[in-house]
Amino acid sequence: MIKINRVPPPPELTEEKKKELTQKFINEKERVWATPYIKNALFKMSKGKCSFCECKLGEEGKYMHVEHFHHKDSYPNEVVEWNNLLPTCVRCNTNKGIHDTVLEPIIDVTMCDPRDHLIIDNYRYKSKNNSQLGRQTIEVIYLNDSDQLVKPRFDIANKAKETLELILDKAREFKDGVSNSTRRKNIIVNGLKSLLREAHPSSQFSAIVATAIIHDVDYSELKGILISLNLWDEEMQRIESEVVNTSLYGQY
Ligand SMILES: [Zn+2]
Repeated sequence: MIKINRVPPPPELTEEKKKELTQKFINEKERVWATPYIKNALFKMSKGKCSFCECKLGEEGKYMHVEHFHHKDSYPNEVVEWNNLLPTCVRCNTNKGIHDTVLEPIIDVTMCDPRDHLIIDNYRYKSKNNSQLGRQTIEVIYLNDSDQLVKPRFDIANKAKETLELILDKAREFKDGVSNSTRRKNIIVNGLKSLLREAHPSSQFSAIVATAIIHDVDYSELKGILISLNLWDEEMQRIESEVVNTSLYGQY
């Protein structure tokens, strides 16, 4: 789970339009939020990912649902209120169900940073410093769903760690002069950049992958080697700082 910056509402969603759609929902129970301009703007806002679990929407049957943070049945006046809408996957939307986030708040990723309330431990989310908001979010969204979330997170992060080991091996050889061709240097430098991009906020399960890579001892060694060889460049520094800001690591 990562912080998402709320973008401005789509231009079609004027105050007048909102009133019209809200009345339509209240009177006719029509799915007024399910319009392409709302869905497209939400999809773009979250970079095509579920706001809660960070799975990629639109892949393997993961259709995007428009989630009403304050549930539409309890708060019908917010049915097309832009700040109340989030793009989510079916799994998260179904788990949240009719949960009342006003009475029992959970993390709204457009309003607060999940890093203040959650940490990641062994591919599972835990509440940070016993944060009630963190705990309720984990329970309501069922963020540690073993089959649908923990296992895919492990698979992706493990693959990234395998790649990290391979790049580190090559970097050690390069440093020791075993193989220090330009070709080898490019494999190391570009390999690390593409690995860091897998942990970038626009990638699937970015919080998990970022945490797994950044806090791996292999990563520290690899970075040290690159710095000592003057191969650590500005682009790497820039991507790394975005990845560090995505990771969730800390004490309970
Ligand atoms: Zn989800």
